[in-house]
Amino acid sequence: MTKFIFVTGGVVSSLGKGIASASIGRLLESRGLKVTIAKFDPYLNVDPGTMSPYQHGEVFVLDDGGETDLDLGHYERFLTARLTRNNSVSSGKIYNSVISKERRGDYLGKTVQVVPHITNEIKESILAISKEQKVDVCIIEVGGTIGDIESLPFLEAVRQFRYDMGKENAINIHVTLVPYIDASGEMKTKPTQKTVAELRGIGIQPDVILCRSEFPMPEDIKAKISLFCNVEPDAVYDAVDAASIYEVPLLFKAQGLDDFLVRKLHLKASPHAQLDKWSHFVRQVYHPKKELEIAIAGKYVELHDAYKSIIESFIHAGVANATKVKLRWVDSEEVEKKGAAKLLKGVSGILVPGGFGDRGIEGKIQVIKYAREKKIPFFGICLGMQCAVIEFARHVMKLPKANSGEFNPNTPDEVISMMADQLNIKSLGGTMRLGTYPCKVEKNSKAYQAYKQALIHERHRHRYEFNNAYRERAKAAGLKLSGVSPDGKLVEMVELPNHPWFVGVQFHPELKSRPLAPHPLFREFVKAAVKYGAKPIMKKK
Ligand code: GLN
Repeated sequence: MTKFIFVTGGVVSSLGKGIASASIGRLLESRGLKVTIAKFDPYLNVDPGTMSPYQHGEVFVLDDGGETDLDLGHYERFLTARLTRNNSVSSGKIYNSVISKERRGDYLGKTVQVVPHITNEIKESILAISKEQKVDVCIIEVGGTIGDIESLPFLEAVRQFRYDMGKENAINIHVTLVPYIDASGEMKTKPTQKTVAELRGIGIQPDVILCRSEFPMPEDIKAKISLFCNVEPDAVYDAVDAASIYEVPLLFKAQGLDDFLVRKLHLKASPHAQLDKWSHFVRQVYHPKKELEIAIAGKYVELHDAYKSIIESFIHAGVANATKVKLRWVDSEEVEKKGAAKLLKGVSGILVPGGFGDRGIEGKIQVIKYAREKKIPFFGICLGMQCAVIEFARHVMKLPKANSGEFNPNTPDEVISMMADQLNIKSLGGTMRLGTYPCKVEKNSKAYQAYKQALIHERHRHRYEFNNAYRERAKAAGLKLSGVSPDGKLVEMVELPNHPWFVGVQFHPELKSRPLAPHPLFREFVKAAVKYGAKPIMKKK
């Protein structure tokens, strides 16, 4: 039988509930339990696929093509489990389903209301996850902050669900903030007391209080929170700021949070947490031997959340190369004004990430030209690969007007064109080429050197592709098509053989990199960058 942990947040947003949920998941997995994590978000979009990265950060794509919140990325990176689109539930998705049922006549004769129809739908979606994934523990992170009107239906559903399931089967962990006030030299518990009072006002008594704080909390502060918030004395944990998110499961472990949860939920877990490899990884994150700088040339560079999985992939690949990868954020529109050489001086590698629309495209093309000509390791992802093809077509194949149909539908040389099965699609939500597809890797290639496999599976999110009408000319000019779909129809990877490392991929490798299993292409890209220009880190005496 599946046990449930609901994670809510109070006081302020951005408390790191996602990392907390992921870390609790990792910790329970390390006790031999099968765990999944889902995110319930209050917004009315059916999924985040139609939102700008500025609104919502990166869209994380799952194997089944589900477009989800970036927190699902943290869940997958911390867990061994693979998640499905059921793990991502928004108010929009719930309302959409209830309204379709109403139109079908499923509720014939009834007035359809938030309680019980919306709340029942939420409860069913919780059960659907446990039924599908047959886990020991299902963790559900409820988006938003207690006090938001938007998340009330979710919280009401959680209240009912816990009542239905009983205390030993469904618990609530409330994440709060315990600020340190410099002037008085004290940690303050009042915001935590207030948010717990508000949570209790909607019928949810938390079982665990997880306090974000700058410093570990003294015992008297924990005792005060326990007393005022009506939780057991050993149910108050601190979540101090960690230099690496990957240390958080270890910090929770050190306080015995796993033992508490195993006891509370009567879980049949192994007696000790197995976190050796994970701790080793964290030690390596903190003790690199070399360092280097890699440029990310994109258009959402002010908002690093837009490239969350890429950032994490570099941490994993950095550890695999005993190297600290520092990222230099280069705004591709700035490149158009100042030139590539000025903004890229000193970097050992250049990555052009995915994106949509024509803003900043010419800057990206300049960056790629610079990487190609100066023989700096280059990695192009999705739009980055498409731009690499445009750059190659313009400057090597001598098609100066080459472009993508996305940026200029009237170009005489549409080297990147809309995929055939996308042509008649009118609505934009969830209709791209999404999710995992297989790809054949050519033996004699950098891609094969990385994967060491002839057939790979990677996740996609795009509408445009390499135009096959240019295949032969591109090959003749020296572009290697190192990965194609098994039917040979789609070009999935390109590379330049006479360059130290120049690889473009139509998929999103960053979605599959894990701390203990870095993505082979990121690992090899960083390796090439190390060769190009890593500096040793001097130990302080
Ligand atoms: N805009 C491009 C396309 O739709 C690239 C998408 C992406 O980078 N995810 O094909």
